[in-house]
Formats: sequence, structure tokens, C-alpha cells
Amino acid sequence: MSQPQYEPWVREILRCPVGLHELVDVVDDEGRPALQCAVDCGAPGRRLRFPVSDGIPVLLADDAVVVTV
Ligand SMILES: [Zn+2]
Repeated sequence: MSQPQYEPWVREILRCPVGLHELVDVVDDEGRPALQCAVDCGAPGRRLRFPVSDGIPVLLADDAVVVTV
């Protein structure tokens, strides 16, 4: 499974639109690359997972999946 590689400056500006914190690379339940909140988002253990469509992160709250960690 190949993860999209971002330039460091791109990585730096990729932020959760809800909590404005950093995101980490993850793989969703179907094996697709995604970005997920690096820290709790809105509530303890609650994080958002954003899809990556054709290598382009879709950082929209409406498209995010809520995951519990
Ligand atoms: Zn977040």
C-alpha cells in the first residue's frame, strides 16, 4: 500500500479544518489512504478522518468520518 508523499511545506499546511491541528497519514477501513486528526478533536477520543481522493486530501468537515480512538 503506497501512501501519498507530501512535500514538507505541504505537510505543514495540511490541518484539520475543525480543530486546526496536524493530521497523520492513516489507511481507512477499506484500505484507502486518508488523513486523521493527530490529536483528539472536539471530544476525548474523537477524531476525524478525511478521505484522500486521487492523492488530494479532501479536508472538508462534511466529508470526514468520525472515528474513536
Ligand atoms: Zn481534528
